[in-house]
Amino acid sequence: MDLSKHAFFEGKIVPLSEAKITIATHAFLYGTSVFSGMRAYWNEEKKRLFVFRPYDHYRRLLNSARMMSMDIPYDEESLIQLSLDVLRADDWKQDVYLRPTIYKADMGIGVRLHDLKDEFCMFVMAFEKYVKNDADAHLTVSSWRRIDDNSIPARAKIAGAYANSALIKTDANRAGFDEAIVLDQNGHVSEGSAMNIFMMRDGALITPPITDNILEGITRRSIIELAHNELGLEVVERSIDRTEVFIAEEMFMTGTAAQVVAVTKIDHRPVGTGLMGPVTTKLRKLFDDVVHAKHSKYQQWNLEV
Ligand code: PMP
Repeated sequence: MDLSKHAFFEGKIVPLSEAKITIATHAFLYGTSVFSGMRAYWNEEKKRLFVFRPYDHYRRLLNSARMMSMDIPYDEESLIQLSLDVLRADDWKQDVYLRPTIYKADMGIGVRLHDLKDEFCMFVMAFEKYVKNDADAHLTVSSWRRIDDNSIPARAKIAGAYANSALIKTDANRAGFDEAIVLDQNGHVSEGSAMNIFMMRDGALITPPITDNILEGITRRSIIELAHNELGLEVVERSIDRTEVFIAEEMFMTGTAAQVVAVTKIDHRPVGTGLMGPVTTKLRKLFDDVVHAKHSKYQQWNLEV
């Protein structure tokens, strides 16, 4: 894995090898950290790196921190500046992934959120594909349920909650599938292990609402806008039943790591024709252009490093 040489740790930029927490740190013992996964994309023509929607990522990170009673002395703007500093500390000329984390930094035993010190840290890594078969993924419906808002909020990116995603992903992979569709406690489709879900049905693009135990994905939000503005599609946010995925015309998953993954088979049943559909094909290309700062209309989403 190609990790950054530098990191932000305890208030300053340090060599990554010096950015260390101890085995007694609260966040390590109890999963009490919140994080973001952002990307910066290399534009070969402009020879520049562009961070995609950093304000939205940091807004969600700070909202996750709020849900976990965390407090750090940074707002969205100062976190964006720190990201630029960390990116500039290394000489990246490729697509990279940024992992900022806010964590409970005290040492010792005692599961709680209050009366603990919070810290912020960040590192960067080179990143290409997250789902290998991203043009023809085969999904299963997971036997695991998505964490419920009344257990652990899925709309927050809480490290401890990713035990749920890890169970989902490993069982799907070991059974020979690329990814999984996860149902919530009510039996509705929520999302994948680390990506949101969209399906085409009767010509409309449908995705679960933010009240169905999903992470409020930045890619999801971008795709909704692009599908509506650029493809003229009707986009509907509503609950999706399990069996609807078997009769969808197209399906794809979205995420910062995953980008736009075409789903062509679910539990051995073909999705639509069994080949990547026209809407998915167009959105994959459009999204790739937009994140690489090649689309002038959406340049407010690309922050130059
Ligand atoms: N759901 C989950 C559980 C995730 O971890 C992610 C990845 N952050 C997503 C959805 C997609 O969100 P985003 O588009 O903001 O990366």
